[in-house]
Amino acid sequence: MTMREHPHMGDYEDDLRRAKVEFNQAWIRLSNFRRGLICIGCGATSDLGVGWKAYLTADGGTAVYCPDCAEFEFGTN
Ligand SMILES: [Zn+2]
Repeated sequence: MTMREHPHMGDYEDDLRRAKVEFNQAWIRLSNFRRGLICIGCGATSDLGVGWKAYLTADGGTAVYCPDCAEFEFGTN
């Protein structure tokens, strides 16, 4: 990841840190409803949610992805 092209990356990192806190809160909330996660990418379901990822959406909701879709959508690079 090249950060050099983004002079305001410091501000971005602050936002990211806040987002991570919110993510943790969202994840705790999700953990209370473990009866089943549903991947919004492929519709797969999971009782345990191992390896699944939840992301905050622009409207403040959460988007849940199975491991495969999370990697496809967000990758590792
Ligand atoms: Zn999926």
